[in-house]
Amino acid sequence: MEICSSDAAVQGTSNDAAVSRESAARLGYIDDPFIQYFVRRPQRRAPLINRGTHSRFDGVQRILRQFAARAAGCGQVVVLGAGLDTSYFLLRREGLVPLRYFEVDFAEVTAKKAATLWRTAALRTLLPEDAALAGGGTEVHSNTYNLVAGDLRRFEAEVVPTLAARGLDTAAPTLFVSECVLVYLGAEDSDALIDWITRAVPNAGILTYEQIRPDDRFGQMMVANLRARGLELHGLHAYPTLDAAARRFLERGWHAARGLDLAEYHERLRPEERARLSEIEILDEWEEFTLLAQHYAFAFAHTAAAGPFDAMGFD
Ligand code: SAM
Repeated sequence: MEICSSDAAVQGTSNDAAVSRESAARLGYIDDPFIQYFVRRPQRRAPLINRGTHSRFDGVQRILRQFAARAAGCGQVVVLGAGLDTSYFLLRREGLVPLRYFEVDFAEVTAKKAATLWRTAALRTLLPEDAALAGGGTEVHSNTYNLVAGDLRRFEAEVVPTLAARGLDTAAPTLFVSECVLVYLGAEDSDALIDWITRAVPNAGILTYEQIRPDDRFGQMMVANLRARGLELHGLHAYPTLDAAARRFLERGWHAARGLDLAEYHERLRPEERARLSEIEILDEWEEFTLLAQHYAFAFAHTAAAGPFDAMGFD
């Protein structure tokens, strides 16, 4: 395990992500009525950040919904480094919850999330009836939804046993989601996590959304800005190019993998959706947006030819 001096800074990124999401939700870019409960001091983000948040949200929700529809009644979702993500509540609101849903993060983050879930009626009523606070208030346990504390750098030794104790069934189709998380892990640790999935979950899918292209001028600037805030992207080595984000899975024998950067994702939005976004705010800095969006990418990969994942993706 790599020793990381900035765990507190990494945990703080969950707030940054929530503030951006709340900004996009409040302005009407995205439909997320739940994120407001996790943000104490809302901030209005710049139009190009709101646009990026919209595409990021849209991509993740699209894959989650495809999986919920295709694996209804048997599928599991494991959100790695879930932070203050509200996807469980968005799915639950629509009656789209898979059989089991797990969220994992550092105890410092899950404690904050558990406390908010518990004291907020709009969230608590969407928790399963058997939900209970556990782990001294750092976790929420139930038969279907589990918020658990763990360090992803000790995935097999620490996180897997916790997930197994909460009912993770490695034989079931399982979608792993990592949104801006794997880049914070050291190379060995994120490889070990993916290797465990490769070995242990025969019908697995993964959606990653991570920074890419750290080596060009913009990428170097992005890395320097994060470093100035005490954040090291230890795992960025894995994503020198868009292809590399997908190759990581193909090299391990996964059946299929595909990367798509955020600029291309935005480009492919339906014209009506783009027109709707333009009415919310004018975006003048298209060059800057494209440059930024080319440095974030989705990768979607799955291990098996048969099962719910084969027909899923961004097309
Ligand atoms: N995925 C969430 C989202 O998109 O809103 C949160 C993203 S935030 C940028 C990164 C999250 O990964 C943080 O909540 C952080 O605590 C978590 N994280 C990073 N390294 C971790 C580790 N070693 N173990 C557990 N969680 C980790």
